[in-house]
Amino acid sequence: MSWLTNFVRPRIRALVRKNDVPDNLWDKCPHCGQMIFHRELEANLRVCPHCNHHMRLAVAKRLELLFDDGAYERAELPKSEADPLKFRDRKRYSDRIKETRDKTGEQDAIVVAEGRIGGMTVVVAAFNFDFMGGSMGIAVGDGILIAARLAVQRSAPFLIIPASGGARMQEGILSLMQMPRTIIAVDEVRDAGLPYIVLLTDPTTGGVSASFAMLGDIALAEPGTVIGFAGARVIEETIREKLPPGFQRAEYLLEHGMIDMVVPRRELKATLVRLLSLLRNPKPAAELVTLPPAPSADAHGQPRLPGDAP
Ligand SMILES: [Zn+2]
Repeated sequence: MSWLTNFVRPRIRALVRKNDVPDNLWDKCPHCGQMIFHRELEANLRVCPHCNHHMRLAVAKRLELLFDDGAYERAELPKSEADPLKFRDRKRYSDRIKETRDKTGEQDAIVVAEGRIGGMTVVVAAFNFDFMGGSMGIAVGDGILIAARLAVQRSAPFLIIPASGGARMQEGILSLMQMPRTIIAVDEVRDAGLPYIVLLTDPTTGGVSASFAMLGDIALAEPGTVIGFAGARVIEETIREKLPPGFQRAEYLLEHGMIDMVVPRRELKATLVRLLSLLRNPKPAAELVTLPPAPSADAHGQPRLPGDAP
């Protein structure tokens, strides 16, 4: 028996494990179905090299990509009441949130960070889609309010990166109250004369798109991002009409004047640096030179040109 347990079983396990490894090394693009080597996909910032499909990016990776040298400081957020309505669906909300906290190591669906982008101090509030679909409850509202006030205190531009399915239904009306609350937060930034930029990432829907997310001074989006209020299927069923191709995608919204730019992930940082420099740099972009005096007019009122007879 000991021979079986000590020798045979580990060998069998090793064989099985060997077969597991190659599966984990490949990712399948959900858009074109091509297999992509995991390391290649990560190096390409989780953008499919075959069809340019932008896959979702974890919040830590997203912040690392945007801040100079990937360095930033996280703001501490207050602990919010875990289950204000004692809500229960298939599971108690308090259990659900505890499980998600254990799994993600995060307190809620928002991360507030401060750091430099192109040498300029910027305050960022980024959604964590892995935390209950980035849904907006009281804690997310708190996070956005704190981030906005931090931006005002630091006299820094404010960048929000939504990745959210909308309001958190387990917090009912309290989650809907975060819509006006977050609008007041970004208004504080605007009143201080500071830029408020939104980077819409996949997906930005529901109560998030219906509040602060569509109010940026400049609205950027990643290619193919789903941006909308109600889901496309719900709209189709309600109006009983086929929706146009590309409906609720970033490119469609750009075409219809709802957002300002669709920026590939690779160019995001450079674009942000350019925009922030234009908005923040009080000095003109080029050196000022004095123009030569205008040539005096001749007898017929025509300006004299160089080479004309005196
Ligand atoms: Zn693909």
